Amino acid sequence: MPEKSYDHHRIELKWMERWKDADFYKAEDFSPRPKYYLLEMLPYPSGTLHVGHIRNYTIGDTLARYKWMRGYNVLHPMGWDAFGLPAENAAIANKRHPRDWTLSNIAYMKQQHRRYGFSYDWDREISTCEPEYYRWNQWFFLKMLERGLAYRAKALVNWCPECATVLANEQVVDGCCWRHDTTRVEQRELDQWFLKITAYAEQLLNDISKLEGGWPERVLVMQRNWIGRSEGTEVDFRLADTGEPIRIFTTRVDTIFGATCLILAPEHPLTARLVGEADKAKLKQMIDERARRDPGDLVKEGFFTGHEAVNPYNGERIPIWVGNFVLMGYGTGAIMAVPAHDERDFEFCTRYGIAVRPVIRPADGPLAEAATMRGAFVDDGVCENSGEFSGLPSAEARRRMTEKAEREGFGKASVTYRIRDWGISRQRYWGTPIPVVHCDSCGIVPVPEKDLPVVLPLNVEITGAGGSPLAHVPEFVNTSCPACGRAARRETDTMDTFIDSSWYFYRYCDPRNDRAPFDSAKIAHWFPIDQYIGGVEHAILHLIYSRFFTKVMRDLGLIHHDEPATRLFTQGMVIKDGAKMSKSKGNVVSADDAAERYGADTARLFVLFAAPPEKDVDWQDAGVDGMYRFLGRVYRFVTRNADSPGGDGS
Ligand SMILES: [Zn+2]
Ligand SMILES: [Zn+2]
Repeated sequence: MPEKSYDHHRIELKWMERWKDADFYKAEDFSPRPKYYLLEMLPYPSGTLHVGHIRNYTIGDTLARYKWMRGYNVLHPMGWDAFGLPAENAAIANKRHPRDWTLSNIAYMKQQHRRYGFSYDWDREISTCEPEYYRWNQWFFLKMLERGLAYRAKALVNWCPECATVLANEQVVDGCCWRHDTTRVEQRELDQWFLKITAYAEQLLNDISKLEGGWPERVLVMQRNWIGRSEGTEVDFRLADTGEPIRIFTTRVDTIFGATCLILAPEHPLTARLVGEADKAKLKQMIDERARRDPGDLVKEGFFTGHEAVNPYNGERIPIWVGNFVLMGYGTGAIMAVPAHDERDFEFCTRYGIAVRPVIRPADGPLAEAATMRGAFVDDGVCENSGEFSGLPSAEARRRMTEKAEREGFGKASVTYRIRDWGISRQRYWGTPIPVVHCDSCGIVPVPEKDLPVVLPLNVEITGAGGSPLAHVPEFVNTSCPACGRAARRETDTMDTFIDSSWYFYRYCDPRNDRAPFDSAKIAHWFPIDQYIGGVEHAILHLIYSRFFTKVMRDLGLIHHDEPATRLFTQGMVIKDGAKMSKSKGNVVSADDAAERYGADTARLFVLFAAPPEKDVDWQDAGVDGMYRFLGRVYRFVTRNADSPGGDGS
């Protein structure tokens, strides 16, 4: 047989057609073969795949095929994280309904997936913007509400003026919106729905040990830091004028005899009362300024309130300041400043001429002299000038001082976490409606389960102006109270779309179930996920929320495991000629271009061979050309020899 030239179009389009209706990759529930659940993070339907996506899916696809060939019953599904802001922004820009925009993008991207021949079980496809899916978001919300895990509170929230919506702390990057990296985030006080992820802080932290070896160490480190557990002591100082307690949290109570001032967060409830009229404007400015930056990047600023606090250990009166670096959300929103033994306090106090008083000496050296200190001594050591605790090593002093506080009722041992409850209210349209009703007589009333889903109405005008678009749809807003039957109003905020992606991988196991989010027996068969694959940028948001949802579902009795995924792999990025691909640089290589110019096989082979999967790959045309020539040689070799002895002649 004569050798044929390598025509990737002819070959790949032929097979794409042949595979179109085939169901080679169907996962079988309850198969006796060993199961393997392989999952790639579900994409946002932005409209087009680029070669970075292709790398993610190619790595997964390769593993899936390997497992199939090894005799496993592989679950390898794909779906769409279909709610979210870009659909709404596109709607404003193009006068197109977010649903149309989203569905046509999904259809297009699905075609791209097929062009690349990925081995998905398309029968299990899900799309989070469909009522069949998001009704279960609402159901989980109601379950959490019943258990006190969902609650409503007034809170200062991060507000992006560009998005005109609230952002989770995780969505604020260097003081700016994660989608608008030049838009400063502001602080606003609003009624918000929260999920009480802090109730699971300790479990989320402890169970990290179950992921060691299976998840990348850097992801686990990021999660540990995000949860941020600190052991310490809460101590009540007293307002000198009135005796009113001011509770502080410290991890270093052994240094408390060196406290030379008390510093309140600008938002601390006491601050507004203590600060005189003259300083109110300064205070407001401090609160807004602070929202715009990471506390770590702030120049530490503050001012004296004119009031004093009493240290319960020695009765000393120390000045009360307000400081922009004290966080209301961490500990109690008030700290004691011990400049001799804390770098941050040292910087603040020396700047404002507040006394520095060393009370801890190194185990093998003398106590420092305040006048000659160039920085804080932050290590543990031996207490000095600390009354009855002088001479004790730091650890021993912490224990005894905490005991004294507990005995005398002015404090206690305490653990605090950096992680905050998850604010889920969004003043946006394209998301899951929050299933509650506001009634003038009954207050907040949950929508009964039998009335789910609360369907997102389609006749909405989206202008991008502030506030919830749903508030302008009377047919949606006006309803009757499920409790008393009188006229009532529906909640018009929608849920953070990270809820959609917190449990989607369970739905793949039972995607058409209309009586429950899933059948627990199917989950027991498929879970945990054997291999999860996605970008490291999801280390904190998605992967902590998913672990939280898993634990809540377990406590609801729906599932019987603690962690959703045994193994996590975070692939490297695809960069272009040394630079990160981005729309603004115009260097994004689309999956279509790559398939057109080189073919899916070449693109797939290149992203697998050009670098180890965890490292970044540089998409260089010379390298891709080389891969194309290699495939051409293989193809010509095979076609040339197909009818020689040993070939079957066809
Ligand atoms: Zn924004
Ligand atoms: Zn009512």
